[in-house]
This record gives sequence, structure tokens and C-alpha cells, in this order.
Amino acid sequence: MKTALICGVSGQDGAYLAQFLLRKGYTVHGGTRAVLPALLPASPPALPPTGPPNLRRLGIADHVQVHAIDLNDAAAVRGCLAQLRPDEIYYLAGQSSVGLSFQAAAATLESHTVGTLNLLEAIRQLGLSTRYYNACSSECFGNTGEVPADETTPFAPRSPYATAKVAAYWEATRYRQAHGLYVCSGILFNHESPLRPEHFVTRKVVAAACRIAAGSGETLALGDLEVQRDWGWAPEYVEAMWGMLQQETPDDFVVATGRSHSLREFVAATFAVLDLDWQRHVGTSSELLRPAEIHVSRANPAKAAARLGWRADYGMREVIAAMVAAEQERLRARGATAA
Ligand code: NDP
Repeated sequence: MKTALICGVSGQDGAYLAQFLLRKGYTVHGGTRAVLPALLPASPPALPPTGPPNLRRLGIADHVQVHAIDLNDAAAVRGCLAQLRPDEIYYLAGQSSVGLSFQAAAATLESHTVGTLNLLEAIRQLGLSTRYYNACSSECFGNTGEVPADETTPFAPRSPYATAKVAAYWEATRYRQAHGLYVCSGILFNHESPLRPEHFVTRKVVAAACRIAAGSGETLALGDLEVQRDWGWAPEYVEAMWGMLQQETPDDFVVATGRSHSLREFVAATFAVLDLDWQRHVGTSSELLRPAEIHVSRANPAKAAARLGWRADYGMREVIAAMVAAEQERLRARGATAA
């Protein structure tokens, strides 16, 4: 039975990955910044009765061993790895909002790079054979224009978030090249689910559209509707993460659907699912524009298909349908509780 440590287990990807690995028979440990009983010096603590909300939502909170790990503390990270000796580590922690990163550049940089260094250095110092997944991002490519980005496309970051991801990518690559560690970077394009927090645009659109369909009468304010993104389904993307760590040799992979759509198309399709004309309910606000934006983000995921056998089944419309269904269920449950 393999053991995995997921740093950032409470997030969207961490929760789905935990679910996927549990189904595969892994012992799953999760790291969080939340204050829980410390891992050291005692043996791994029992899971607190109220695990992270996303794990509860997926019904797996009782099956993941959650630990408070300060990833910025090198000694604590080394102690944790010495104790757990995981077969695989997935680094999914960090400030993940591009928009917020413009206001919290230093914290964003630290959250993606210091933990990465501490984990990789601990693997090296302890001589572990742990395989390591680094969560890289399509944001590193910046504007791709019409030519889809692949693993050979140079990085051109346009936000503090993307700069942090580029730095973490090179840390990961350096440990693979210089120290021979098994390290993969997954360069993932946007992937969504009902577990996305509401400050991310897809969930913001879906949540507002469902409230409007239920009669809220509100107007949804958005930034640039012409930006183009490649939106996939998060539960499928965590399978690609795992697939990377099962190869004979470590490598980097672009993971995406290969189809990009404008935010305008996303909004129109979401409102159409609810039989609403989006133009009657959506406005734009210059306050929501970012200091620097990626206008077009296109992907070529051919390498992941050829080498990992991974392909996205869900495209934008399937993602929207699933998110709307979950949001309506959430609203119904809230209504039932209130009644
Ligand atoms: P989430 O934001 O849902 O989860 C990230 C987790 O990291 C949080 O649950 C939180 O856990 C922890 N975290 C948040 N802020 C900080 C911080 N400042 N310092 C340390 N830890 C922090 O992200 P996703 O699950 O969507 O993404 C997983 C990883 O993949 C992230 O690194 C993200 O940047 C990257 N990525 C995501 C894409 C996407 O479309 N979803 C696309 C490409 C890359 P806790 O509070 O429990 O510590």
C-alpha cells in the first residue's frame, strides 16, 4: 500500500486528489496551515472530528490523516517527511488566485516557493525515493495568442502569481536535473468544480446565475468578458497528476482540454442552462480589470495524451452543467435548512 502526502489537501484539487488516491488504496496524509494537533514530536494525530470542509463534502474526512504543517519551517518539514516517508508528495498548497496575487505579491511568492524548496531539500537530505508533483500553471505562459502552448513554450508571466509559479517550476526542475530527484511539474490550465471558492470567476458566474434564476434580482458584475481560457473538470485533472508520478522517468506535462472559450461564452452558456438571457443580468466594471491580463490562453495537451494516456472528457459545457447542478443542490439544501 502506497503512502501519499498532499500539501494543500483542503483545497479543490487536494480534496479530489485525496478521493482519487483513497480509491486506489493509498494511505493519504494531508497538510494544512490550519491549527490542528502538531505532527511532531508525537506520532501522527488522530483526525479531528471536523476535517476540512471540502473533505467532509466528498465524504472522505474520516479517511484522510490531516496534519498541521508549516511549509515555511524547514526543520518541521524535514521532521514530517522523516516520520511519514511518503512514496509520493503532491504540492498543491499556496495562494492560488491570480487576482489576489496583485495585492499580496510577497505572500503569494512565499507560499509557492519556500514550501517547494523545503520539501525538495528534505527529500534530498533524507535520501528518500519520494516522487514529487509540482503544481505549475498555464499562467506561466502569459498570452499564448493563437499558437497553443506546449511543454517547450517559453514562460512569460504577467502576474505575481505566475512569477511565483515560474520560480517554483525552476526549483523543481533544478532538483530533478542537479540531484536526480523524481520531480514532475504539471502545467495545468484552468480546471473547475463545485469546490472552487466563489472569488474565482467560474464559480462566481455559476453561483450568481443560480441565485438570479431563483429570483434574487441581482446584477452580476464582471471584468473583461473577452479573455479566453481553457476550462476543464478538476476531478479529471488530478488523475493526470497521479499519472505523471507513475512514469518510468520524471517529466513535465501540459494538462488541458485543448479548447479555449471566451468568458462571454462561459457566461452565456451558464445562463442558457438556466433559461436566462445573460445580457439582462450581467454588467462589466472597470474596477474588476487586472493590472495586467492574459487575453488568450491556449493549450496543446498532446504530450499528456501520448505519454500518460490522459484526455479530458469534460469540455466547458459539461463543466458548466455539473457546476450548475451542484449549485442548485446547494441552494435547495440551504433553503431546506432555513425553512
Ligand atoms: P486552492 O486555492 O483550492 O487550494 C490551495 C490550498 O493551499 C488551500 O486550500 C490552502 O489550504 C492552501 N493555501 C492557501 N493560501 C496559502 C498560503 N498563502 N500559504 C500556504 N498555503 C496556502 O487551489 P487549487 O486546489 O485550485 O489548486 C491547487 C494548486 O494548483 C495550487 O497551487 C494552484 O495554484 C495550482 N493550479 C490550479 C489551477 C486551477 O485551475 N485550479 C490551475 C493551475 C495550477 P490551507 O488553508 O488548509 O492551508
